[in-house]
Amino acid sequence: MKRALVCGAGGFIGGHLVSRLKREGYWVRGVDRKPHEFRTLEADEFCLLDLRQPENCWEALAIDGETFDDVYQLAADMGGMGFIHTAECDIMHNSALINIHMINGAVKMGVSRYFFSSSACVYPDMKPGDPEMTEDQVLPAHPDNEYGWEKLYAERMAQAYARHTPIEVRVARFQNCYGPYGTWRGGREKAPAAICRKVAMAEDGGTVDVWGDGTAVRGFTYIDDLVDGIYMLTQSELQVSANIGTDEYVTVNDLVQTVIDISGKDLEIRHVDGPVGVAARNFSKARMHALGWEAKVRFRDGIARTYAWVAEQAKEAYPTGA
Ligand code: NAD
Repeated sequence: MKRALVCGAGGFIGGHLVSRLKREGYWVRGVDRKPHEFRTLEADEFCLLDLRQPENCWEALAIDGETFDDVYQLAADMGGMGFIHTAECDIMHNSALINIHMINGAVKMGVSRYFFSSSACVYPDMKPGDPEMTEDQVLPAHPDNEYGWEKLYAERMAQAYARHTPIEVRVARFQNCYGPYGTWRGGREKAPAAICRKVAMAEDGGTVDVWGDGTAVRGFTYIDDLVDGIYMLTQSELQVSANIGTDEYVTVNDLVQTVIDISGKDLEIRHVDGPVGVAARNFSKARMHALGWEAKVRFRDGIARTYAWVAEQAKEAYPTGA
């Protein structure tokens, strides 16, 4: 039986990836500094470890004199635009330490394959209508935020280990991802979950506050599509970074209106000041398409599933309203 280690298994994508790997027949160990907030993990083992410490990375990677076949590194100090623009030092410090110690530990422990979760935030800002950007056009580098710079550094570090040691490295740059079992409140939630929460908690006839003017263009990838892409890329022989994302682009206003329509409520959108991030994203998925992967879940369907889950969470957490 093949063995996989999922770092960040207590998080949104890591939790879904554990389930996917179990379906593929892997023995799976999850590791995180906290348990999963919303689900019982299907991992064979789960370790609570702070991966900023090198000795904890060694412990996560140690497995009775054997080695893991695949390590999926998704642990990061992570959040939506509000978090990314305020917690710059934590992101640069904590995520860099995790990435430095995990790849080094994985090499020393003889791991065969190492997956690193990067982000579309490595790319410079784009304007709506700009032609799509290929992975190689990340250079000359000019990410919009420190989160993107840290990801770029960690990508390059992993690729350097791949060039100089026997480890195989796979790197995916994720577009915004959404779905059930992700953070939906508290300041680290991303736009789809935040909008689902605001709409779920709004009184019929009320308003929904949206940061910025809502014209920013985004692609939102449903979680099931993303974990399919992660798995396919890791099993492939593609040694260069690959973008994973949908071809269905929407504006933030489209996102909000879709959630409102699904809720069946009569709500007005109110634009307020707040961090909005880049104006647009449009990047090539040719590398993933060449592997036979493409996003299958339509935006409206994925948002409907996500809204149902967030609305249920909000009802349980605030039975009498906000
Ligand atoms: P998440 O915050 O839900 O999961 C990250 C997990 O890492 C959390 O459970 C957290 O506790 C854990 N972690 C943080 N610091 C740790 C430490 N010191 N030791 C051990 N565990 C630690 O985020 P996610 O959305 O599941 O993202 C997973 C990965 O994908 C991250 O690397 C993120 O940067 C990347 N990514 C996500 C998106 C997205 O839209 N969700 C987009 C681009 C890239």
